[in-house]
Amino acid sequence: MTESCDCSKCKQSLYGLKYILKDEEAYCTKCYEELFSHNCETCHKLIGCTSKDLSYDNRHWHSECFLCMECSRSLVDRPFATKNDLLMCTDCYCNKYSAKCKACLKTIVPGTKKMEHKGNSWHENCFTCNRCQQPIGTRNFVQKEGNNFCMPCYEKLFALQCVHCKKPITTGGVNYREQPWHKECFVCIGCKQQLAGQRFTSRDDFTYCLECFCNLFAKKCASCTTPISGKCNLTLHISRVNPPPPPAPKLTCTVHMFPLMVSFIGVLILHT
Ligand SMILES: [Zn+2]
Ligand SMILES: [Zn+2]
Ligand SMILES: [Zn+2]
Ligand SMILES: [Zn+2]
Ligand SMILES: [Zn+2]
Ligand SMILES: [Zn+2]
Ligand SMILES: [Zn+2]
Ligand SMILES: [Zn+2]
Repeated sequence: MTESCDCSKCKQSLYGLKYILKDEEAYCTKCYEELFSHNCETCHKLIGCTSKDLSYDNRHWHSECFLCMECSRSLVDRPFATKNDLLMCTDCYCNKYSAKCKACLKTIVPGTKKMEHKGNSWHENCFTCNRCQQPIGTRNFVQKEGNNFCMPCYEKLFALQCVHCKKPITTGGVNYREQPWHKECFVCIGCKQQLAGQRFTSRDDFTYCLECFCNLFAKKCASCTTPISGKCNLTLHISRVNPPPPPAPKLTCTVHMFPLMVSFIGVLILHT
């Protein structure tokens, strides 16, 4: 107590009164509250010197007012979180603001590992392959109709098999006669170059680039003796015929080329 035993502010004697010491000065309770007390964030009333003043982030509460705004549980001595200046117990905070696991529908507690894909979240252990039920973790996966599959399972279940090598086609691939092929497997039987995206033709179930096909099968033009093929320019052949060619049926190129070639020539579209 100060020597004078008077309130530092109003100077009234503190003898027999409650008083509060602050920074080695004594104050009557009224002066102390005027000078130092705060208003409670929740009830807006003064936090008197007989109440406990809880402060956080320059804001103050009565201890009985320091409650979760969602469930009204006391947050005294309990972990809490704030959002937009509102106090919440961590349970309510998690329920309200944390991601929910798409599989088990429970909250993913902040700070724990979570898997995210296309706006959905999972607990690490809930992010499993729909077929083998193993956690996918950082492995590659495929999402199909809302289900996730690890690659081996996906291939077993869904992937197309190349008609040539019988292995699954995971990316790319081409369709030919309504059957799937690897691009790498769909090649010219003669020179082995890939035919996807190129003009090609086929004969007896074998596919050929036009060059190989011409060399192997195409009829030689009767007029110019070069092979007639899709690559050959019909007008070129025609122009070499001199005098001007007789009517269509007798044109060697027309007769040999179109019935044979046109129905076979295709350009494969890559599908992804
Ligand atoms: Zn006073
Ligand atoms: Zn209050
Ligand atoms: Zn709560
Ligand atoms: Zn989960
Ligand atoms: Zn699997
Ligand atoms: Zn293949
Ligand atoms: Zn070829
Ligand atoms: Zn010709």
